[in-house]
Amino acid sequence: MTEMKSNILVSDLKAIVGEDNVSDGIYERIGYAGRGVADLEDYEIPDVVVKPSSAQEIAEIMKYANKHKTPVVLHGSGTSLIGSSRPKHKGIVLDTTRLNWIDINEDYMYFECGAGVRCIDVINALEKRGYMLPTNPGSKIIASLGGIVACNTCGHMVDPYVGKPVDNVLGLEVVLPTGEIIETGTKSVCRPAGIDPTRVFAGSEGILGVITKIRMRLMPKPQMVYIAAFFKRVESVARSYLRMYKKKAPLPLYGEFVGTTLARMGFEHKGLKPPEGPITLVNSTGRTSEEAMQNAGIMCEIFRKEKPIDICIFKEAGGIQEKIWHIRDWILFYLQKKQARSLGVEVTVALPHLVEAMLELHIMHETSPIFKDAEVLTYGHIGSLSMHRTFPIPTSWPNDKRREAAMEIARMEREMHLKYEGCGKEWGQLGTRTRFFKMKYGEATYSMVMKLKKALDPNNVLNPGVLQGGNL
Ligand SMILES: Cc1cc2nc3c(=O)[nH]c(=O)nc-3n(C[C@H](O)[C@H](O)[C@H](O)COP(=O)(O)OP(=O)(O)OC[C@H]3O[C@@H](n4cnc5c(N)ncnc54)[C@H](O)[C@@H]3O)c2cc1C
Repeated sequence: MTEMKSNILVSDLKAIVGEDNVSDGIYERIGYAGRGVADLEDYEIPDVVVKPSSAQEIAEIMKYANKHKTPVVLHGSGTSLIGSSRPKHKGIVLDTTRLNWIDINEDYMYFECGAGVRCIDVINALEKRGYMLPTNPGSKIIASLGGIVACNTCGHMVDPYVGKPVDNVLGLEVVLPTGEIIETGTKSVCRPAGIDPTRVFAGSEGILGVITKIRMRLMPKPQMVYIAAFFKRVESVARSYLRMYKKKAPLPLYGEFVGTTLARMGFEHKGLKPPEGPITLVNSTGRTSEEAMQNAGIMCEIFRKEKPIDICIFKEAGGIQEKIWHIRDWILFYLQKKQARSLGVEVTVALPHLVEAMLELHIMHETSPIFKDAEVLTYGHIGSLSMHRTFPIPTSWPNDKRREAAMEIARMEREMHLKYEGCGKEWGQLGTRTRFFKMKYGEATYSMVMKLKKALDPNNVLNPGVLQGGNL
């Protein structure tokens, strides 16, 4: 874009959202490009960053973008792990952080919020009134609820227990790519039967519209009992969860897995005796503490069948329990510190394959010439049949090698998902995963999504490139 055109773009946007809410400073624009400076191509640096505060302002921006065929990339907090919020063309980055209000309505049993509000702020506001937000990603401290609903992730929580956001969102306000503002859903805690446009946008990964307001049902926070079960082998943990499902046992709200290496490091970090093998951390729930305890008893019986090294039950949160559970959150900080950069896979499998897939996950890197001898770490949400492995990508590697490594990681993830009949449970399906989407669901399904996109966004101005995917 020429300097003159860029100046016009900036001043037109200032007329819509106000002088202070538009930035064309180079540092801010690079910040929104979502990659290290060394990896950036010029076309990935947006022309301008804009921070609207209402659906009306966003509608004006979208109409402007259509008129001038200018790409608009949505930015909740930019934590997408599959590059969905990374600009792939010059144009406008639309940051939703000013849509940051929350309103709890106990008469109707829902809360409403702006799409830019941080997940942690919603969690805290709800907990004060005895409610639970039915999603909890590791990025909750910065991730926006709009980004979470757009990705349709319940984070670490067990899906079959709590559902996805799409199961709990009652309605949305959405600005269509062409600038019309629509409302979906009703104010009832019952959602519409039949066609429900809420479902079109919750989980649409930002390609079909800009979510500006979210209405979600209030979910009472259950009572919890905490179980830490220590095992010698990963397959014992996997077999326990398989049994939990097969025996129709009450499912936990969280069923986390920490591999041996990370568990040892985490326990040492907390000043606790390192475990011999992998551990699983479980939150059993109930309407009363007695019910939560009863359910915990059933889970422990299941774990005992696999002859665990130890099982610890905590009736209340705090003390040692808090230290151990904090290890699961600490992993992310550890990885960022230790492996200056790392890339992860997210492998979610079908139930009959759980044990085999867990075993393969632990050796999958051995098939890769790049990662054969790397320190590859495992953790994840085994209660949801979903696991992570992270692979170190040293910053000292040249760009070509890092790209090759990223492709290798994407290949391994793809192969696991095809073999074990799963797909990403958390981070989304498009972005760098489009190739897998086509392989798994076929060209006809992909073409159907393309047609939907074309119908709603005829000029392809909203998040262009996400549906086309990267070259991983
Ligand atoms: C350290 C770390 C830990 C993480 N842990 C988890 C985890 O445990 N579980 C998990 O699921 N994910 C996790 N993630 C990934 C990421 O945080 C989530 O996918 C989150 O939902 C993205 O929220 P965001 O606000 O950052 O969205 P962004 O990254 O800004 O956007 C993500 C997608 O949503 C779209 N979008 C954003 N806002 C809107 C809107 N208002 N309307 C329409 N579309 C919109 C964007 O276009 C993009 O496609 C983690 C990421 C990091 C960096």
